[in-house]
Amino acid sequence: MLELLPAIDTTLEQFLLNYISTRGGESLNLAQILTRGTASDGGLFVPEKWPSLSTRELAALLSGEYAEIAGQVLELFGADSLATGNITEVVSKAVQGFQQPVGPPVTQLKDGLWALELMHGPTLAFKDFALAPLAEIIATVLKQENRQATVLCATSGDTGAATVSAFANRDNLRAVVLFPEGGVSEFQRKQMTTTGADNVLTLCVKGDFDACQNMVKALYQTEAAKDYGYTAVNSINMVRILLQTAYYFRTSGLIQKKTGKASSFIVPTGNFGNVYAAYIAKQMGAPINRLIVTSNDNDVLPRLFESSIMQGTATVKTISPSMDIQVSSNFERLLWHIKNCDGTAVQSAQQSLENRSRYELTETEMQTLTTDFRALKCSEGEANSAMQYMQTEFNKTICPHTATAVHAYTTLGPDADADAETVIVETAHPAKFSAAVEKATGTTPTAPPYALQQLQNSEVMHSCDATIQSIQAAIDGFFN
Ligand SMILES: *Cc1c(COP(=O)(O)O)cnc(C)c1O
Repeated sequence: MLELLPAIDTTLEQFLLNYISTRGGESLNLAQILTRGTASDGGLFVPEKWPSLSTRELAALLSGEYAEIAGQVLELFGADSLATGNITEVVSKAVQGFQQPVGPPVTQLKDGLWALELMHGPTLAFKDFALAPLAEIIATVLKQENRQATVLCATSGDTGAATVSAFANRDNLRAVVLFPEGGVSEFQRKQMTTTGADNVLTLCVKGDFDACQNMVKALYQTEAAKDYGYTAVNSINMVRILLQTAYYFRTSGLIQKKTGKASSFIVPTGNFGNVYAAYIAKQMGAPINRLIVTSNDNDVLPRLFESSIMQGTATVKTISPSMDIQVSSNFERLLWHIKNCDGTAVQSAQQSLENRSRYELTETEMQTLTTDFRALKCSEGEANSAMQYMQTEFNKTICPHTATAVHAYTTLGPDADADAETVIVETAHPAKFSAAVEKATGTTPTAPPYALQQLQNSEVMHSCDATIQSIQAAIDGFFN
């Protein structure tokens, strides 16, 4: 049973909390951005201000179960605009079937070092913690409003698996998932193709991840978009990010209670969604010291920290495919804070990124950025060493994404942040990437039985070219 925490005092101020575009246009409430991707000016939605918390409210967010905390966060961010009724009950329903419905395990590895194990959800990646509740919220709202929607997602593996799992067999909802042919592991592909759900269409696209993402963007612009009610659930969805803040509140609260210290999180990063959630928790008063962003060879963020210049290059394939990204979409949200919430300044930086493939931060802006953040790159060889280190030092098998965070820990050393406890964020289960893990460590990771059961079913997927005609035809053919 959930023990209910003291209710949040919903002040008039919080009722009026709105979301504005990072590029200056539009002002909408939470219900209005629930199923929106980007704002009409191309920016991302951000809360116009952080909700102010009383000491009692903050204390409530730092203890208790995941669903309670997530529900309270959403209330603070305007959940009263959603037609869901009690939001905590909705989130709670979504995570009830998880291995640890109370919240992800926070385990101490040694003095000063912890692991936040986000990989025990139904599809073995942290994305379950946000996508499962998001699906429940959207389904509840659609039912209430007697509407239908079609969820679209381009994936390099983990988002697709979590989306399929969260949206399969739901009333009023369809899901279309696009993955690049040959670009996901066998385990991930099977997670997407074996649900047997007739409301889920899995498309194997002859192209790379960027092609899939471009197809999704193009689908929104088609004639059919209105009929299908296309809806975005990729990590630029603000509700997803708000849900993820809950495990940062909970983890930093638990660690503070045990050690009296704040936490510094090392977060394997791609699209900057997960670490941005940690930043929100810190801004709202959670005992969080530093946020350390790690990358694989696609090191667009570490290079920014070194050179003050944001400049993507060609994406290279690595053993951590969910981080094979050169356009870190959610960084635009942080950029908005760094630029003192100046939409025009963000607009011109992003325009420069689009037209000249770069923008540069000023010295003052770099100072703001490095107050909270650091960034470190991890090469393939370093990731292998990090996996070996965890295996021999702690008898713990980790995934190649998590390895980038471990590498940062061994590089910076425990003294890098003497004031805080260090927390390695484990983003996926090693069994999803068994070939790479086995090669590095000689250990074959095994997936828990609950995650394997469905994978025995026969696979259903459709192949198509990376053209809008081919994809729309597949969608029409499947659903009509
Ligand atoms: C999605 C993903 C990431 C990157 O998370 P962002 O929120 O995009 O920064 C890292 N590791 C794994 C395993 C993932 O699935």
